[in-house]
Amino acid sequence: MSDREILPFNLPMLTGREFTYIREAIDSGQLAGNGGFTRRCHDWLRSTLGVPGVLLTHSCTAALEMAALLLDLGPGDEVIMPSFTFVSTANAFVLRGATPVFVDIRPDTLNLDERLIEDAITPRTRAIVPVHYAGVGCDMDAIMAIADRHGLLVIEDAAQGLLASYRGRPLGSLGHLGALSFHETKNVTCGEGGALAIRASRFLERAEVLWEKGTDRSRFFRGEVDRYTWVDVGSSFLPGELAAAFLYAQLEEAAAITAERLHLWQAYYDACAPLETLGVRRPVVPGDVTHNAHLFALVLPAGTPREQVLAELNRHGVNAVFHYVPLHQSPAGRRFGRAAGPLPVTEDRAARLIRLPLWAGMNREAPADVARLLAGLLNRIRPAGGTT
Ligand SMILES: *Cc1c(COP(=O)(O)O)cnc(C)c1O
Repeated sequence: MSDREILPFNLPMLTGREFTYIREAIDSGQLAGNGGFTRRCHDWLRSTLGVPGVLLTHSCTAALEMAALLLDLGPGDEVIMPSFTFVSTANAFVLRGATPVFVDIRPDTLNLDERLIEDAITPRTRAIVPVHYAGVGCDMDAIMAIADRHGLLVIEDAAQGLLASYRGRPLGSLGHLGALSFHETKNVTCGEGGALAIRASRFLERAEVLWEKGTDRSRFFRGEVDRYTWVDVGSSFLPGELAAAFLYAQLEEAAAITAERLHLWQAYYDACAPLETLGVRRPVVPGDVTHNAHLFALVLPAGTPREQVLAELNRHGVNAVFHYVPLHQSPAGRRFGRAAGPLPVTEDRAARLIRLPLWAGMNREAPADVARLLAGLLNRIRPAGGTT
């Protein structure tokens, strides 16, 4: 990278039909939610995920909040989840008064370590929330087997998982409920957006009611009741038609967007191979999952001053960032949740991980340039006490 060229961490991309569909939505005369474009998005997502129900939401956060409502969670209930995740994974349940119980992650995929889940289960445990980090699937067969054995429900945080799969099944369709994100930073976006995928059919009817402010408005529109009224708790979880129109243009191109991201991801993966001799770890994708190139993250050698590496990358125009501040170490995580035990892998990886720029439309030469820049930096910036 030359000093003047900036490689942003993320740039939203347009597929080309967004404006056409937004105009169509305006011309249709309905801007409120649950109109034609919402239905097209629902159909696309239902058939892509292979689940009986999907509801668009304002965000993945909102979809997780709907899941917490559907499970009737309340004070005293515990929900098992990783600490290495975005705050919404926990907040959705904390809003209901439930307690997040943080479990450590696997050193390879950085996903919830299924071998540690059973030790964290108590008589108050109600649900498990696996997060598919980087669009790499968790070991869902193992997690579902644990849930079945203990009578727990599973809500997938598949915010990063669109078009990725585990043993041939789409992420978001494997738990009882799944939450997806269409935030600007995700592979497919409408700025702020999300969806709740409903595989367990017992939740279908109530989910629609919660979504439509606690009314049976959806049944009314299908002609199943002759007027609609307030029947349950709920909120306004549905996005308007302008967002749905934008999103539909992106969903139609989701496969092409993913293919382009996979190409860039592979270019990073190949170009970063020589960094392994410096102690850098590249992403691990198990053989039974297909990922979607949501992000490319490296784990720096232990003791490397990460802030200095990030500052140097940014000084050279590469907007690399870190991921995440573990929730159990955050002020709200300490207040509202608890760690099931020590979380050494979470703490170690969160301190060493860097994310590199990756977005559809990015220059295809960029991954090789970034890898070269990083190799030069790491040769200069030695780990504290490092020998090699
Ligand atoms: C992005 C993300 C969310 C939140 O998605 P929003 O649509 O912004 O609410 C939740 N969990 C994970 C793991 C995410 O990456």
